[in-house]
Amino acid sequence: MNDTYDLAVVGAGIIGLGAAYAALKRGLRVIVVDRQADPQGATVRNFGHLCIGEQTGAARVHADRARELWLELGRAAEFWVRESGTLIIARHEDERALLEAAVADDLALLTAAELDALLPSAPGVAVGGARVARDLQTDARSASAAIRRHLASRGVEFRLRTSAGAVGGGRVQTSRGPVSADLVVVAVNHDLDQLLPELAESVGVVRCGLDMLRARIALPRPLPAPLLTGWSLLRYGRFSGMGETAVVRQRLHAERPDLAALDLNQMYTPLPDGTILIGDTHVRGASIAPFQPEAAADALADEVETLFGARVDVLERWQGVYASGPDDFLVTEPDERTVVLAATTGIGMTTGLGLAENTLAARLDALASTEGILR
Ligand SMILES: Cc1cc2nc3c(=O)[nH]c(=O)nc-3n(C[C@H](O)[C@H](O)[C@H](O)COP(=O)(O)OP(=O)(O)OC[C@H]3O[C@@H](n4cnc5c(N)ncnc54)[C@H](O)[C@@H]3O)c2cc1C
Repeated sequence: MNDTYDLAVVGAGIIGLGAAYAALKRGLRVIVVDRQADPQGATVRNFGHLCIGEQTGAARVHADRARELWLELGRAAEFWVRESGTLIIARHEDERALLEAAVADDLALLTAAELDALLPSAPGVAVGGARVARDLQTDARSASAAIRRHLASRGVEFRLRTSAGAVGGGRVQTSRGPVSADLVVVAVNHDLDQLLPELAESVGVVRCGLDMLRARIALPRPLPAPLLTGWSLLRYGRFSGMGETAVVRQRLHAERPDLAALDLNQMYTPLPDGTILIGDTHVRGASIAPFQPEAAADALADEVETLFGARVDVLERWQGVYASGPDDFLVTEPDERTVVLAATTGIGMTTGLGLAENTLAARLDALASTEGILR
């Protein structure tokens, strides 16, 4: 078997699906190969928090494009994606000062009273907060399966339970035989260290493992939108470089070295069924042990009780992994017919669709016009 396509994509996570969608829209013949029967990579393990307004630079460009694509795909593929915005709670004056310094058209400050009216947090916890207007939310577990079904219904071929062992020069060697394509996109996230190990090593891509919980929290009223805390502000590009953030970081790390050691991003996203995703902790290395320390789950649950003053009933725990590198993204072309795309920090759900479209547009347009001449 040696099948020929315009585009072959390795990896059916959000970045691979973004590449397939970009090519499909241009009328190209596309195959997506994934080694899992029902792809369950980072794309189904995350918060479904599309934190557009928290990005800056190239990440913001990709996030803004992805926002349009998420809304377009949500309508076409009929899955849950909502214009939720994001709430941020400030629990200390330095966090409030940081939010004040970040105010812009899409980031509005909230007083403590305004936040309390929106948020079921414990009385007196908030000193202020903010709302980020442009953010979206989806259900990570169902969104990518819906996108896959939609793309398949429009002619994209999915070859699942099929592992790619080598890529290069317009060919993918798979466990079901070779595939040829004018262009091959590699979107295998942290598994880049297996498929193209020398490339991963040369650009410094390692693995980041995260612990997550899904829980019922006995709140007096529902959490209306994804919620970030001061710990989150330390991570996202829009805030992380600001002088005010250094002050917040120093205090949080001095007050809670235990949480700093977990590399905590204390955040919450409410799902349509009323349960809440709680996260997350981070550990980096060439290999991530599968053994999730109970202390990390306890810390996540304890922080819920402090913030909301409510009991946590944990329903599920899991580990997610993503590629971690020196920059936000890895975009590279090992040869003229192979493009490697990865989000190398935890913003691939927010940016992945835009990363694929923005990076591949010129190549796919050229392929489409060549095909147009030939057909
Ligand atoms: C716990 C957690 C929380 C997160 N929260 C957020 C968030 O709230 N917002 C946000 O923007 N981002 C978040 N992220 C990051 C985001 O989920 C990832 O950046 C994004 O999903 C990566 O998409 P991907 O397509 O590159 O990878 P994946 O979804 O991991 O897909 C890669 C696919 O490649 C396949 N594959 C690998 N090797 C091969 C091979 N050799 N042959 C065939 N198939 C192969 C795998 O089976 C997999 O299906 C989070 C990540 C985690 C883990």
